[in-house]
Amino acid sequence: MQADTIIVGGGLGGLAAAIRLQAAGRRVRLLEKNDRVGGKMNIVQDAGFTFDTGPSLFTMPWVVRELWAAAGRSADDVLEIVPVDPVCRYTWPDGTRWDHRSALPDLIAEINKLSPPDAVNFFRFMAFAGRIYAATAEPFLLSPFRGWRDFVTPRFVRDAPALDPLHTVDQAVRRHFRSPYLRQVFNRYATYNGSSPYRAPATFCIIPYIEFAEGGWYLKGGMYSLARELLRLAESLGVEIETSAEVVEVCVRGGAAHGVRLAQGRELAAERVIVNVDALHGLRHLVAPEHRRAWTDRRIDRFEPSCSGFVLLLGIDRDYPELAHHNIFFSPDYPAEFRAIFDLQVPAPDPTIYVAATVRSDPQHAPENGMNLFVLVNAPATSERFQWEREAGGYRDLIVRLLERRGLPNLSQHIRYEQTITPADFGNRYRAWRGALYGPSSNQALSAFLRPPIVSPDVRRLYFVGGATHPGGGIPLVLLSGKAVAEEIGREN
Ligand SMILES: Cc1cc2nc3c(=O)[nH]c(=O)nc-3n(C[C@H](O)[C@H](O)[C@H](O)COP(=O)(O)OP(=O)(O)OC[C@H]3O[C@@H](n4cnc5c(N)ncnc54)[C@H](O)[C@@H]3O)c2cc1C
Repeated sequence: MQADTIIVGGGLGGLAAAIRLQAAGRRVRLLEKNDRVGGKMNIVQDAGFTFDTGPSLFTMPWVVRELWAAAGRSADDVLEIVPVDPVCRYTWPDGTRWDHRSALPDLIAEINKLSPPDAVNFFRFMAFAGRIYAATAEPFLLSPFRGWRDFVTPRFVRDAPALDPLHTVDQAVRRHFRSPYLRQVFNRYATYNGSSPYRAPATFCIIPYIEFAEGGWYLKGGMYSLARELLRLAESLGVEIETSAEVVEVCVRGGAAHGVRLAQGRELAAERVIVNVDALHGLRHLVAPEHRRAWTDRRIDRFEPSCSGFVLLLGIDRDYPELAHHNIFFSPDYPAEFRAIFDLQVPAPDPTIYVAATVRSDPQHAPENGMNLFVLVNAPATSERFQWEREAGGYRDLIVRLLERRGLPNLSQHIRYEQTITPADFGNRYRAWRGALYGPSSNQALSAFLRPPIVSPDVRRLYFVGGATHPGGGIPLVLLSGKAVAEEIGREN
């Protein structure tokens, strides 16, 4: 039977939308350009090492469970969702170390070690950020957001001051914490959606609130198990999935989407099309100019991309006992790092470095006594100002040297396997707009509300799903965008 809905892209958003729609009785066909689904959530297995190449931690695990429940199944039957403790280990250039512990008494003990007055300040911060969560979760995160009219209700007017959009994340964090170390920890959460804490509105203090209140989670076996199990679930429901199938155009007739054309010239018809490709790329490259308003192009040009990432996969033949599952090695000058990324649009010369070693939770991810280091550095979206093709090798050497200085001595001598992934690679592999990992940045006061909408403004029966649209990037939000788009289609007449 012919599909009534075509989904372009098998990232987490596309898979979530496919599952929800098929479970609701639609007939869905999903087309993915690469040879496997998952998009930015991906995996490399080589030389005895296993690496997740995208997300390494997630929050709001109930969003995953809710998705399986929508299909009448239980996520816990197929996924082992485990808390990580410490959620993250932070190290500063002066040797100071701090663990974000998951149990409250342990966390408070850790805060007391650094700065006793900040123990009570932590609760004040959580109360402040909790009010933002209470005001935004239902109308913004958990509902299809079609525009301001959905949000500007009497309740919103009452709650608006709590969102604190006129201050930055950094200003809110400074207001609450005395310790410069804790300020840097709480500022870091702005990078969870690829933004700068010195520019993103304080509203995004909701991100640390969620992680401190609900914990940081991992999937036993590796994060890629989520993509693998979403694929299985979708197939078991009857979604038709085709990989190595690149769509080059959304076909439009009479102002409505009626199918797609593939790279090989094949055309497939459907009653509606959902684009899971990064919305900014999809709007410009998959919808022919005659079907887009000039206003749409002007708007795309105005979006500032979120940051991208420079990734090293390092398989090493020794253990560094000081490494936890998740580790951050902070830079000495955090503001300078974000100036480099967003103002100068070049990689920071002395950046914060994130290192995940899933071998701590999954010993089979590296040979005995070895480690699988996933090294991630925030990097600018691609532009003419920096040529990764030419500069990646030099930046790789810099990062390895910095890691040796900051706590992993002689690292370079222990590398047995390595691979580099640059922002340009993220653009080429997944068609991420300018290699940005989270779509548009959230660096302006109202940017969360101005993201490309899930319903196309130009073409009827054309929808967008995924991290570049509403409500934003990151695993739980992308899965929620799948829910929002399915609900929106449920309202179609
Ligand atoms: C290095 C890295 C670290 C991250 N860390 C975290 C983390 O720790 N926690 C977290 O929650 N999130 C993290 N994220 C973000 C998270 O991975 C993304 O928000 C999420 O996976 C995006 O899913 P998506 O559905 O928006 O689309 P994508 O993953 O971008 O999928 C889009 C899909 O469309 C396909 N496609 C593109 N063009 C076409 C075409 N023309 N035809 C057919 N198919 C096409 C692509 O190949 C891709 O599979 C990270 C991302 C990266 C890259």
